[in-house]
Amino acid sequence: MDTKDISRRHFIQRMSLFGAVGIGASSVLAACGGGEQQADTPADTPADTPAETLVETAEGFTCTDTSDLTEQELAMRNTLQYVDASPDPDKLCDGCALYVAAEAGQNCGACTVIKGPIHPKGSCTSFAPKPA
Ligand code: SF4
Repeated sequence: MDTKDISRRHFIQRMSLFGAVGIGASSVLAACGGGEQQADTPADTPADTPAETLVETAEGFTCTDTSDLTEQELAMRNTLQYVDASPDPDKLCDGCALYVAAEAGQNCGACTVIKGPIHPKGSCTSFAPKPA
């Protein structure tokens, strides 16, 4: 037996172990609904919101790039449960007093409370209707 056989054997043993761990993790995720949620739910929408109640984001764009945010800014965004597609048509970012409209040529606006790009049809728990 040479070192090449030992390495090949070790490689096969390790791959078998990783395969078993991967299958186990998938089963656990599927059992708790995590796997299904990732596969069937549009990005950045509440998992328990029926699809028919989500406001159509007909504009065909998302405002989910949070790569420039600090951990604190991202935590604030998550704490206030910002979503790109509001589950309530009466609570849209573009109807919120805290919304800052997108600049010319841009799709995503901004918010005076939440950092990062904000979809005009998004929403969060701090929604405050614009004065009539
Ligand atoms: Fe949208 Fe919430 Fe900001 Fe209002 S406070 S603009 S609902 S993200």
